[in-house]
Formats: sequence, C-alpha cells, structure tokens
Amino acid sequence: MEALFERDLQIGSHVRMRGSRMMLGAVEEALSYRANTFMVYTGAPQNARRKPIGELRIPEAQALMEQNNIRQFVVHAPYLINLGNVQNPEIFRQSVTLLLWELERTKQMGSRVLILHPGAHVGAGIKAGIQSIAAGLNEALSVPSDVCVALETMAGKGSEIGSRFEELADIFDRVRYPDRLRICFDTCHVHDAGYDIKTNPEQTLAELDHYVGQKQIAVFHINDSKNERGSRKDRHANIGKGQIGAAALYRLVHDPGFPGVPRILETPWYPDPADPQKSLPPYRQEIAWLQSPQNCSAFLDTVSTSTVS
Ligand code: FE
Ligand code: FE
Ligand code: ZN
Repeated sequence: MEALFERDLQIGSHVRMRGSRMMLGAVEEALSYRANTFMVYTGAPQNARRKPIGELRIPEAQALMEQNNIRQFVVHAPYLINLGNVQNPEIFRQSVTLLLWELERTKQMGSRVLILHPGAHVGAGIKAGIQSIAAGLNEALSVPSDVCVALETMAGKGSEIGSRFEELADIFDRVRYPDRLRICFDTCHVHDAGYDIKTNPEQTLAELDHYVGQKQIAVFHINDSKNERGSRKDRHANIGKGQIGAAALYRLVHDPGFPGVPRILETPWYPDPADPQKSLPPYRQEIAWLQSPQNCSAFLDTVSTSTVS
C-alpha cells in the first residue's frame, strides 16, 4: 500500500507561462524540476490581459506532458478577480466575466481545477462578502463545465474571506453546484490564519473535515511561512526555513489520506550566490527532498532564507 501511494505522489511547483513558448515552456520548466505535476497562471496573476487560447501552444504542451507521464496540473485564477466586492458592482461584474473566461481557458488547457481566492469584502463585512462570493460562484458555475473551482484557504490579510474554515463552509452551503466546488489547502495561509499545523497538521485537517470535509481538498499549496502563527501576513518561506518547519510539511505531503492530490510549491526564489542580481528557483531541490528525506540536511544547507517574495 505504502509503495502504491509513493508512486502516486503528485508534486510540483508553480511554473511560468511566458514568452513564445507559453504552456510548452511551463511544462519544460516543470520537467526541469523533475516534477510530475505543476500549477500555472494563464497570464500575469496581477492583470487580466490574456493571450488567445490558440497561442498558448496547448497541443505541444500536452504531447510533452504525455511523453513524460505528467497526468494532471492545476491553474490559478488572477488575483484581481474579487467576487466579494459588494461595494463596487462593476468589479463584481468583471470578476464573474473573468472567472468564466478562466474556467474556459482551464478546460481548453486540459486541467479540471481552477484555484480561486474567495474574495475580500473591502469593508462591507464578512457576511455580505460571503453572500456576494456565493452569488458570483452560482452565476459562473451555472455555465456547465467539468472544471472545478478550488477555493483557497487564505491568510486573512486585509478583509480577505476564507481564512476560517467556517467561512469556506458558509460559501459551500450557499453554492448550488457542490460537484464543482473544492478546496485548495495552503499551508502558509492556514498557519498565518492561526491554525496549528506546525505541531499537529492532522488535527488541522480534522478541523477542516468537520466544516467542509477533507475530501474536498483538490490541491495543496506547500509553503513554509516567514511569520508566526496567526500573523495574517501571507509571506511564503522556503521549506524548513520558516515558522512551520520541514517536519510538518513533510507529513502533509505524505499524508496517505490524499493519494494523487497535487502538492504544489509556491516558495520564494533565492538570490544566486554567483550573481545577487539574479534569483534561482528552489523547486528542484525542495521537490527532491519532499519526495524522500534522504537529502534533507544537504538540502536545507543549500537554500538560504530568501528575500524574494
Ligand atoms: Fe493563491
Ligand atoms: Fe497559495
Ligand atoms: Zn500566499
């Protein structure tokens, strides 16, 4: 059984779709980290400018995935989608439209999971924000598709909704398309929100189970945190270089309750010792270590605490 699970361990990182290679480049980047899954944004996370689907080089990317036995990947929606903005109906409207586009792009690219930050109420209060998020999801999900929206657990900075499992449960209760709603469990965010995943990750998962069901987890974001538990700051740290620590993150990656659920690293790049102007991705080393602890100490020496966010 143990061996079966290890074979099924899906681990990768956030990779970039850019230049002319687009999705093909994203798959190449994932392979350079020896990952067997990955996460992409369909364009810059901060804006809504997107290339036409025909320019993403999807067939080439899919062929490369197939050759290398990458069976699944996930997509992250842009940050500017805010379904919780009750104050500004225009932003809400644009957010629903953008979400629909992203769902379509996700489908065309061949993924079934679109990760979404639930939203921020920007002063209207949690209840109003939750009602607005649910209304936006009900509208976007009324268009049939086999792509799910995975609501990310948030750190709780500003007026972000979704830092408490109760809030996520409230959204789930109000959405009429339960088959299309899932959870993205971000370890840094959950820690920053105040849950004790450092000493007892299994207990935190049990708490999530109580409110929304741990079967709802479609993807994990595996990040250490620069800040103390409950800080609500959302600053990711490299594995073993933050307040959560490598042991708890390793346990979550190898939790047998989630076979085949992708574990995605969003840890910061670190400065190149040869050229401090440049930064290097930590993912190949972090993935190798999280797959097997043999290289643990060697690995922890190579990754310095990073200033890149
Ligand atoms: Fe996110
Ligand atoms: Fe995340
Ligand atoms: Zn974050």
